[in-house]
Amino acid sequence: MTSSGAGPTYDPAVMTPITGTVFDIQKFSIHDGPGIRTTVFFKGCPLRCRWCHNPESIRPHPHLSFDARRCIGCGACFKACPNGVHRLENGRHVLDRERCRQCGACVETCYAGALETVGRTMTVEAVMTPVLQDRSFYRDSGGGMTLSGGEPTLQPDFAMALLDAARAEGIHTAVETCGFCDWNLLDRLRTRCDLFLFDLKAEPASHESLTGVPFERIGQNLRRLHDAGSPLWIRLPVVPGVNDTPARFQHAAEIIRSLPRIQAVDVLAYHAMGTEKISRMGLDTPPLNGIPTPSSEQVQGWIQQLAERGVSARTPGSA
Ligand code: SF4
Ligand code: SF4
Repeated sequence: MTSSGAGPTYDPAVMTPITGTVFDIQKFSIHDGPGIRTTVFFKGCPLRCRWCHNPESIRPHPHLSFDARRCIGCGACFKACPNGVHRLENGRHVLDRERCRQCGACVETCYAGALETVGRTMTVEAVMTPVLQDRSFYRDSGGGMTLSGGEPTLQPDFAMALLDAARAEGIHTAVETCGFCDWNLLDRLRTRCDLFLFDLKAEPASHESLTGVPFERIGQNLRRLHDAGSPLWIRLPVVPGVNDTPARFQHAAEIIRSLPRIQAVDVLAYHAMGTEKISRMGLDTPPLNGIPTPSSEQVQGWIQQLAERGVSARTPGSA
């Protein structure tokens, strides 16, 4: 197996298995890069986007999800848990998550399916098994494997090992990133990666209040990836009434126009799926309430705003 760039080159014959934490592996994805792809969702994210639609990714380690709507109040989990995590408070089932040791006993006993463990530790081989199964689809469609999340750069050795393993099999590789990381990590990934899907989430003035982190480093990393010759698609999540302002489109357009080798720009329309998932994960991230999924006319309006500023954009999978 060969690879370039700094960092470990993964060879399962001679190395201790590299493991990482993922929360999903999604096959037949058509929205995460070219062609038909398998998307590997990493756990752990440095951002706290107010509109997060993958709150399963936020915590870096496996944890419990509790869906109160499915709970039938049978009490089996109260008895099963050795750590007293589940209890009744004013007639409500509450979880003391700090005490959870992830033994899984309560999940096993919950026949209603209200409890679930989100995330699991996997070896590179375990991830690559489903990835390799769809090789013929990748070949016929120009697809491949995408690392997403969460943020793949938070588990750099695992990400690099997966990219090396895919490339050794001739599989196209893509990494979706928020860009908020040390340049050194992107530099190590870029030599193993055929395409970056790089998110621009808001303009600088509102970036920290909407995502929890400032914009500056993200902008610098995007420019460095571009200048290093990495193939780039830009992803613009747009939430009506939140980051669909003229200033935001102007900022995105100025950056995109200044980086001539960007290959594509995708507008990602908000959907409200994450709001309900946040409470299942027991997260206190303030969700955006009451924002409806935008209409196709709204989405076309955003694409038009970018076009008026000299940027040709599309919706994912529409090319
Ligand atoms: S996973 Fe184990 S420790 Fe955690 S709540 Fe369930 S039974 Fe208790
Ligand atoms: S075992 Fe499941 S259905 Fe029963 S009380 Fe616990 S969470 Fe609710």
